Amino acid sequence: MEFLPLFFQLHDKPCLIVGGGVVAQRKAILLVKAGARIAVVAQSVCASLEELVLSNGGSVRQGDYVTSDLAGKLLVIAATDDDSLNQRVFEDAQRRQIAVNVVDNPELCSFIFPAIVDRSPIMVAVSSGGRAPVLVRLLRAKIESFIPSAYGKLAKLVGAFREHVKQRFHNTQQRKNFWEQVLQGPIAEAVLAGDDDGAERMLREQLMQSSPSSFQGEVYLVGAGPGDPDLLTFKALRLIQKADVVLYDRLVAEPIVDLARRDAERIYVGKSRSNHSVPQQDINQLLVTLAKQGKRVLRLKGGDPFIFGRGGEEIEQLAQHNIPFQVVPGITAASGCAAYAGIPLTHRDYAQSVRFVTGHLKNDSTDLPWEELVHKQQTVVFYMGLVGLPQICRQLIAHGRSKDTPIALIQQGTTKKQRVIISTLADMPEEITKTQVKAPTLIIVGEVVTLSNKLRWFSSKVQ
Ligand code: SAH
Repeated sequence: MEFLPLFFQLHDKPCLIVGGGVVAQRKAILLVKAGARIAVVAQSVCASLEELVLSNGGSVRQGDYVTSDLAGKLLVIAATDDDSLNQRVFEDAQRRQIAVNVVDNPELCSFIFPAIVDRSPIMVAVSSGGRAPVLVRLLRAKIESFIPSAYGKLAKLVGAFREHVKQRFHNTQQRKNFWEQVLQGPIAEAVLAGDDDGAERMLREQLMQSSPSSFQGEVYLVGAGPGDPDLLTFKALRLIQKADVVLYDRLVAEPIVDLARRDAERIYVGKSRSNHSVPQQDINQLLVTLAKQGKRVLRLKGGDPFIFGRGGEEIEQLAQHNIPFQVVPGITAASGCAAYAGIPLTHRDYAQSVRFVTGHLKNDSTDLPWEELVHKQQTVVFYMGLVGLPQICRQLIAHGRSKDTPIALIQQGTTKKQRVIISTLADMPEEITKTQVKAPTLIIVGEVVTLSNKLRWFSSKVQ
C-alpha cells in the first residue's frame, strides 16, 4: 500500500494554498467543503478564488511565498506553475512534518486527493496513487452509478437514531442485527423512494416493537461442494455472505471461506497441526452457543452436509434447543468428481444403480456388505477409502466382482489439482504405491469408469 486512505477532519483547521489560479481554486473548493480555514498566498490571486476564501473566513495575501507562511498550518497545497517554487514548498513542509500536496506531482506529495463519490456523510474515495487518474475517474463513475443518491439521507437517518438504538440494545450483536434489518427492509426502501417522514415513522415503530430477545440467532448448515467455488448454489452464496461467524473444516476450499464477509469471524474446526479435529460434540455445542448469542452462524461442510458429513448430528442439537436452522444441500464429492472426471455414475448400458459407501474401515475390518457391492450393473463409490483401498479391491474380487473391473481414484476432484488414476481392481493397489496420492480422494468402481476415456473434458492429469 503506497498511501493509507484516511479521512481528515479539517473543520476550522488552518491550511495553506500556495498559488492563485484555477488549479488552486479547485483545491480551495474542496477544502471549503470540509470547513477548513484557508490562507492563500500568491503573486496574483484570481477574483473568484479570493471571493471564495474570504467569504469562508479565510485570508489572502498577494506576494511571494515565504517559509513563515507555513507556521501553524496543518496541511499545505502547492498549486503554482513554478516548479522550483513547488519544490521549495514541498521541502519546507517536509522539514516541518506538515502534510503537503503538490498538485499533479505525486512525487512531491505526502498526501493525495482521491476521486470522491460524495453521499455525505457517506464518502467513497478512490485512488491509484497518482498512477492512473483516468482509470480512477472511470471507476468513480461506475461507483456513482450504483450508489443511489439517497444513501446520504439513509446514513443521516441512521446517525440520528444511533443513540436511541444503543440505549435499547446493549449488546453489539443485537444492534448490528437491528440495523441490518432496517437497512435491508422497507425502511431503507422508503428513504430511497424519497419518503423520509414515512421512513422515520417506521423506524420509530420498529424500535418500539423490537426487543433484545427478538433477534434470535440462527444456523445455516451449508454444503460447500467438492472444491470448485463455482459449484456453490446461489442460496449457499447468499447465506455465506450473510453470516456473522463461519465454522469450517479441512474439506472446504479456501476461496469458498473467503466469500464470507470480511468482518465475519472464522473458526476452523478441522484437524489441527497436532492432527486432532475438534470433537463433534464440541462443534455441536459451539453452534448452539453462538446462535444463542444472536449470531447468524454458518456451518460450512465439504460436499453435501447430509452425505457422510455428520450434518444430521449437528442440527439435532439445534432442534433440541429450538434454534432456527436451514440446511442447504451441496454437490457431493461423488457427483462433483464423477462429472469432472467424465464418469457418468449411471449409464443405460453399464450401471442401473449407484451406491455411496464409506470406505473408512475400522481396524482392517471387513464389515461392509460386500455381497451387495459386487453386482455387475452397479457403480460403487467409496468415500474415505484411500487407506482401505487394497482391502476394498481384495474383498470385491473375493466376493465375486471380476478382477478386471475398472476402478478410478480421483484426487482433489473438481479443483485445479484434480488427478484421476484409472486401473483395475487387480492392479490398483500396486498402481497407487507408485505415486504419491493426496487427500481427499474418491474411489469409483464399475464399468462406467471406462467411459472416462471418451468423456473426459476437464483439464487434469489423467493417468
Ligand atoms: N460431505 C462430503 C463427504 C465428507 S467425507 C460430500 O458430500 O462430499 C470426506 C470424503 O469425501 C473424503 O475422504 C473423500 O473421499 C471425499 N471427498 C470430498 N471432497 C473430495 C474431492 N474434492 N475430491 C475427492 N474426494 C473428495
